[in-house]
Amino acid sequence: MIVNEIFYSISGEGGSAGRPAVFIRLAGCNFIEEKHPCYYCDTVYAGRNNAGKKMTIEEVFRTIKTSWEPVFGIYRPLIIITGGEPLLNEKDVINLVSVFSVAGHDIEIETNGSYQLSNMLTSLPVNWSLDIKTPSSGNSNMNVYENLDKLGINDQVKFVCGNIKDLEFAEDIILKYPTSANLFIQPSYGVTDMVELINFIKMRLPMTRLSTQIHKLYFGKEARGV
Ligand code: SF4
Repeated sequence: MIVNEIFYSISGEGGSAGRPAVFIRLAGCNFIEEKHPCYYCDTVYAGRNNAGKKMTIEEVFRTIKTSWEPVFGIYRPLIIITGGEPLLNEKDVINLVSVFSVAGHDIEIETNGSYQLSNMLTSLPVNWSLDIKTPSSGNSNMNVYENLDKLGINDQVKFVCGNIKDLEFAEDIILKYPTSANLFIQPSYGVTDMVELINFIKMRLPMTRLSTQIHKLYFGKEARGV
């Protein structure tokens, strides 16, 4: 597999926000490869299929074990598999999950929502963090809405909202496609009017929660490996 970066930080978003986690960022994003990245994309550097180092599953596992075991001891840290778009390399993701789940790690997978989640994927012992792309991302035509019905109570759906139109879109999708997953509304960093967003959540999206990207609040927009 092509690994863009592996780093240890604090989960910044959604239900796991604040929890120390080891991130495995796989290279490649279908939106970037097709030259239409989300307008707020902060990982363009990982978007090409070859943007990283070729590693075997064993090398990834050993890297994480030897780098972080002195910190964690017998505790197994949360593993977040992200990208780019990790499901471009579905087999690699399945192999990573099997190795890390057997070793006792909780696992979260972030996906951009443009891939159909097969039964095989939804049966994996992981928490899914699925984006529904809003109009201002430029990629709302790529959403696979059937995925929402397949998610469970430990999964999450994230809407990055830059403006009122995005919030209205999120409301429409939430009403149209019921899901058991936790729903998060996330501002687009440095763009969204936060007062407007919070008022919208209070009045029209009380079934959702605000997710701020805490890593950006403390390390800034451009920081990598945090
Ligand atoms: S899906 Fe993620 S990696 Fe791909 S362009 Fe959008 S924000 Fe960037």
